[in-house]
Amino acid sequence: MKENDRIVKLQDFFNFDSKEPINRLAYTEADLEYKVKVINKMQELGMKITIDKAGNICGTIELGNNPTKTFAMGSHTDSVYNGGQYDGPVGVIVALQTTEEMIRRKNCNGILKVVIYACEESSRFGNACVGSKYLSKKLSEDDFEKYFDKKAQERGEIITLKSEIDKAREYLKEHVRGIEEVERIFDEVDYSLEAHIEQYESLYKKAKKTGEPTIGIIDSVGSAFRLKYNVKGETNHSGSTPMKKRRNPADTVGYIGLKVRKLGKKWEKEGLGRASQLIMSTIDDKGSLNQIAPEARGAIDFRLIGENTSENALEEFRKIKEKAYKKFKTEITEETVSTGSPAITSKKLNSKIEGICEELNINYYKMPSYPGQDTGYIPARKKTMIFIPSTEGSHNPNESTTKESIENATQVFTCLAEDLLIERKIDKFKVDVNSLNQEDKQSNKNKPKQQDKKVELKKEIMNIVR
Ligand SMILES: [Zn+2]
Repeated sequence: MKENDRIVKLQDFFNFDSKEPINRLAYTEADLEYKVKVINKMQELGMKITIDKAGNICGTIELGNNPTKTFAMGSHTDSVYNGGQYDGPVGVIVALQTTEEMIRRKNCNGILKVVIYACEESSRFGNACVGSKYLSKKLSEDDFEKYFDKKAQERGEIITLKSEIDKAREYLKEHVRGIEEVERIFDEVDYSLEAHIEQYESLYKKAKKTGEPTIGIIDSVGSAFRLKYNVKGETNHSGSTPMKKRRNPADTVGYIGLKVRKLGKKWEKEGLGRASQLIMSTIDDKGSLNQIAPEARGAIDFRLIGENTSENALEEFRKIKEKAYKKFKTEITEETVSTGSPAITSKKLNSKIEGICEELNINYYKMPSYPGQDTGYIPARKKTMIFIPSTEGSHNPNESTTKESIENATQVFTCLAEDLLIERKIDKFKVDVNSLNQEDKQSNKNKPKQQDKKVELKKEIMNIVR
C-alpha cells in the first residue's frame, strides 16, 4: 500500500533525517506521550485498549467470524539515555501497519494484538524487559518495589519502579478514553512476532553488497549470565618478593580475563554465545607501585545463545577458577548476579518466514540475537522475531534504518499473519492429501488425480503467501 493512503504513516513516528538524541526513558512523560500517539492510531484502527499492572499496553481487534487464534505483534517504545529513534518503536509501528493491512484485506480470521511492552531497557531501573518478564511471571508486582530509578538514587531521592508504573497508569487513564485496566494484557497468545533493528551492521553490509532487500530471522534470543568474583592474595613488597612466592590477586584477575575471552571466542564459533570480563579492580591498594594489593575483584558478562545454559557457564568459570588457584594460590569466591536461559524461537514460524522471503525476493539470514529482547520472555505457543538492517549500532542517536527496511518487515508479517490465520484451510487440505496417499498405496489408479491435487495445494499455498 502507498504510504500516503495509510492511516499509520512512518513519518508520523520517525524523522528519517534527524540524529537528535532520544530520551524516552521508561514511564517518563516523553515515553508516555509517544505511547499515547501509538494508542491514538490503535483506536483509529478500531482496536480496544488495555493496560496491565506492569504498564504493558495492548490494542486488540477481532477479525472474521468467531476468531479464536490470537496473534500478537509488538516491541517497546522506551529508550536508553541519549538513544536513537528506531530501537523499539520500529517493531511497534510494523505491528500497527500489519494490522492496518490485515483489516483492509478482509480475509483474516483471528484476534490481532498490537503490544507495547513496558520498560524494555534497563537504563532507568537496572532491570530489562520488565513488561514481558511480568507477563511470563518472572517478575511480580511485589518485585516492582525492589527496583529504583538509578539517577534519582544518585541525587539521594528514592523513586521505585512500582510508584512510576502507578503514575504512568494514572497518566494513561487521563489521556486515553476507554482504556481498560487488567491484571495482565494476556496470559498466553498463540503467536507472537517482533521486528527490531539489528543493533549492529552485519545485515546492512549484506544488503549493501547485494543491493537487495534483506532481513534476519532470529533462531535464538540471547540471555545473560553474570557473575562477580573476589580474589584474596597477600600484600607484600613488589621488589623483594620472589616471583614464585607472590600471591598477587591482580595477576589472578588478569589471567581469568584472558581465559574467559578465549572461552567467549570458542562459544562464538560454536553458536553458544560470547563472554568477556567487564570490570577488574584491586581493593586496598595504596596507589603505590611498590606494593602488591591484598585483594582484587572482577565481573564477567557471559552472553548465552542457542543451547547454552547458565549452569554450563558457571561450570566453565569454575574450571578457570581452579586453574587460577593452582597457578597463583589466591582464594577466589564468586557470586552470581543474574542467570537466564536463551529462548529458542519457533522453527515452524521461521521456516514459514523463509518461504515468504523467497516469494517476496527478500534475502534472509538465520541468526541469533545476542542482546536480550522481549521475545525472550513473551508467553506464546509459537514466537519468533526478525531483524531489519541498521547502521551505527544502536543505543546512540546515530542508529539508523530505512523506510524500505521497515516496509519489508511489514510485508513479511502481513504474509505470515495471512498464512497463519487461514491455516485451518491448509490443514484440512493436508489431510486430504494424506488420505489420498493411503489410497494410493492400495491402487495406482488414483495417481494422476493425486498429483493434480498436489499442484492445487501448491497453488493455494502460493496464493496465501502472496
Ligand atoms: Zn530494543
